Amino acid sequence: MNNAPAYRICTRCIMDTSDPEIQFDHPSGRCSYCKLYDHRVRHDLFHGEERERKLAAIVAKVKAEGSGHEYDCLIGLSGGVDRTTAVWELKKRGLRPLAIHLDNGWNAELAVDNIKKVLDKLQIDLYTYVIDWEEFKDIQLSFLRASVPNSEIPTDHAIVCLHLKVALERNIRYMFIGANLATEAFMPVAWGYDPRDLKHLRAIHRRFGNVPLTTFPQLSVRTSLYAVLWRRIRWLSVLNYVSYDKQSAIEMLRQHFGYRPYGAKHFESVYTRFFQGYILPVKFGFNKKRAHLSSLVLSGGISRAQALEDMAKEDYVGTALCAEDREFVIKKLGLTEAEFEEIMRLPPRSHYHYPNNRLLFERMPWLFGRFKRLVTTV
Ligand SMILES: [Zn+2]
Repeated sequence: MNNAPAYRICTRCIMDTSDPEIQFDHPSGRCSYCKLYDHRVRHDLFHGEERERKLAAIVAKVKAEGSGHEYDCLIGLSGGVDRTTAVWELKKRGLRPLAIHLDNGWNAELAVDNIKKVLDKLQIDLYTYVIDWEEFKDIQLSFLRASVPNSEIPTDHAIVCLHLKVALERNIRYMFIGANLATEAFMPVAWGYDPRDLKHLRAIHRRFGNVPLTTFPQLSVRTSLYAVLWRRIRWLSVLNYVSYDKQSAIEMLRQHFGYRPYGAKHFESVYTRFFQGYILPVKFGFNKKRAHLSSLVLSGGISRAQALEDMAKEDYVGTALCAEDREFVIKKLGLTEAEFEEIMRLPPRSHYHYPNNRLLFERMPWLFGRFKRLVTTV
């Protein structure tokens, strides 16, 4: 007997039962993400004069505290539209950001070219950290062999760690992120796991990896505590304080910097493109594009009908680009076709199947919740 719940899709956005934890309101048929979105809009999004005033206060504070230092804030850049727009918004307001870029070996040439064009024109310094490829490959393969959905944890962990490390070393208190309510308001918890959990990362690598991690950036809970509580480092979002919609942003970047878009969100990395476009939908049965499109629907960027159409349109699996990426990824990871197929056939496992610090993260909202809350407040 098949006990899988019946398929259901939200009547307002396009989130559906590919997220096992989604809930629907009766009788409206709206989902729990719509509710979350409305809540966040009420608390994190401001309009008109209030928005201007809050942004001016943030800018003034960042400038004042950064006075006398080479840089007053940090911003991570992958070459994507959100953060590239964010860096420009900071520069326009007279801030002096240092841009950080993590080179994990997978960046699309186009992304590197976009970053260079924008930063050169804005005269912003770039700090690039190149991860040791043999270590990174080993840890990425460990996550694939563990058969857990979020095999981007090694990249995301290294990015967070790198931000804090540079901020601590250079006495920079404020770090700007590209996250915003218009294009990425939420992502189902069941589709991933917190990348900051070093215990989890080490446990999976210990079990499936072979190369010792000697240079891979590792962020301990102790360092997080030190950074947030003692050095009072804060994460901020600038895009929630400006009028932001993706299409106009791409057009502006194109006109001002000769920026060339990628075709889809997060396609600036070949691995991310293959992981989100192929591994997740084919093996794990969900597509993060659904959450991104839902954010756009809720923020008014596109209509629900358009989102459904975009979702139904298969623009990656089965294309020549997908076949090319597949061959590239398999070869770069040092796998054979048969080994990759074996990974794809492994039954999916929850991240909770492996040792983790989930309880600590849940029981310390005063630290980890604070990260989230501070995203939008000084
Ligand atoms: Zn919804």
